[in-house]
Amino acid sequence: MRTKIEEQRPGNDSGADDSADSGRRGFIKTAVVAAAGAGAVGLLKPSPAEAASDPAKKRYGDGPYAAEGMALYSSAGPHKVMKFQRRALGPKDVAIQLHYCGVCHSDIHHGREHWRKENFPLITGHELAGVVVAVGSSVSKFKPGSRVGVGCMVNSCRHCGPCEAGMEQYCENGNVFTYASKDRDGSMTQGGYSTFNVVDEDFVIDVPDVIGLADAGPMMCAGITVYSPLRRWSVGPGRKVGVVGLGGLGHMAVKIAAAMGAEVTVLTTSSAKVEDARRFGAKTVIVNEPGADLSKFKRSLDFILDTAPYRHDLERIIPLLKLDATLCMVGAGKIVEPHQIGPFSLLRNRNSFASSQIGGIRETQELVGFCALHGIRPTITKISREKIDDAWTKVVDKAARYRFVIDMAAA
Ligand code: NAP
Ligand code: ZN
Repeated sequence: MRTKIEEQRPGNDSGADDSADSGRRGFIKTAVVAAAGAGAVGLLKPSPAEAASDPAKKRYGDGPYAAEGMALYSSAGPHKVMKFQRRALGPKDVAIQLHYCGVCHSDIHHGREHWRKENFPLITGHELAGVVVAVGSSVSKFKPGSRVGVGCMVNSCRHCGPCEAGMEQYCENGNVFTYASKDRDGSMTQGGYSTFNVVDEDFVIDVPDVIGLADAGPMMCAGITVYSPLRRWSVGPGRKVGVVGLGGLGHMAVKIAAAMGAEVTVLTTSSAKVEDARRFGAKTVIVNEPGADLSKFKRSLDFILDTAPYRHDLERIIPLLKLDATLCMVGAGKIVEPHQIGPFSLLRNRNSFASSQIGGIRETQELVGFCALHGIRPTITKISREKIDDAWTKVVDKAARYRFVIDMAAA
C-alpha cells in the first residue's frame, strides 16, 4: 500500500494537470472515483460486483493486446503509425494503458543510429506513464487503476550481484531495455511512443497521487539518470555542483541538486536559458560560448554532472573542478565522435572522470518519492504523437523547454 505524500510544489512550473484526461478516459475516472469512495490511497480494490462489471477488465481481458505506436522504419524517419500486439499477460505482468511518454535524447540517438545499427521498425520512448488495466495472476504490487511509470528497463537476470543490490541497470547477464532490446521471448522490445505495454511488475514504478502522469514520465529516465549520480557522489548542503547542459536531464539535475541543498552552477551554451536556470534553482549561470573566459570559476566546483549530448570541449570544463573532484558524464553522443581528454587535464587536480547509467528500480521509486516530497516536477511541453518528428528536431536544436511529453490522447 502506498502512503500519501503531502504535496509541496514550489518548483512546479509545468502546468501539467491530468484532470483533463479523465473526461477522455472514462473507465479510469470511474475506477478512481470508486477507490476514493472506498477510502483507498492510490491502489484500487474494486468490490467483486464492481470487478465483474469492470469495463476495463471486459475491454482488456488477459491479452494479447492490440497497440499502436509511432514507429521509425529507417534511421531517416519520419515516424509512422504502426499497429502491433503486446504479449498476453504472464503471471507477474501488468498491462498498462499508456497516457504519456517523455521524449529523451537517447530516443534520437537510437532512432538515428548514433550508437549502433538498429532493427526497424522501431518504436522508441522510455519515459512511460499510464494506468494499469489488467494484472497477471501473481501480481502483488498493482491493481487495475494503479497509476504507474516505466523507465528504461523492463527486465534483468535478478540474481547477479548488481541485480541483488538493486542496480539492475548494471546486470551482469544483460538487462532487457524498454525498446530496441531482445525480450525474453526473443522478440525486440518496442517502447513507449505507443498506447499500451505489458511489463513485469518488478520493473514498474508506483506514481503517487500528487504527481500528475504527464510529469511522472520524465522522472523515469531524465529524473533517475541525474538523481543516481547526485546521490552516488554525495551531493548535498555545502557542496558546489556544476550541471552542464540545460535540457531534459540538466533541468531536472538543477532542481534535484538544489533540493538536496547544494549550490548549483549551470553551464549552458544557450544565453536564452539563463533566467530559466535561475528559476530552477541555480545560483550561478555560466554561458559557455566559444571564447568565453571561464578562468574566474577555476577550482570552484566539488562535482560536475555533464548532460550534454555530442562531443564538446571538456578541457574548458575540467579546470572548474576542485582538488580530487569528479566530472561525471551522463551525456552520450555519437559513437564515432568520442570525447577527448588531454594527458594533463585530470592530473593537475587529481580529478576523476566518471559516468553513470540511469538508476535501479528501487532508486527510481526513491526518486519519485523525493520529487513528491520536494515539489519537483519536470518542466514539460505536451505534444500529440503526430508532432514527434518536429519535437526531435527541436530537441537537437536545443529548443526544447525542457521535456516534450507525448500525450497519447491528444489529436
Ligand atoms: P537534451 O534535452 O537535448 O539536453 C541536452 C542539453 O545539452 C541541451 O539542451 C543543450 O543545453 C546541451 N547541448 C546540446 N547539444 C550540445 C552540444 N553539441 N554541445 C554542448 N552542449 C550541447 O538531451 P537529454 O534528453 O537531456 O539527454 C542528454 C544526453 O544524456 C543524451 O546524450 C542522452 O542520450 C544521454 N542520456 C544518458 C543516460 C544515461 O543513463 N547515462 C540516460 C538518459 C539520457 P544548453 O542549451 O544549456 O547548452
Ligand atoms: Zn532517456
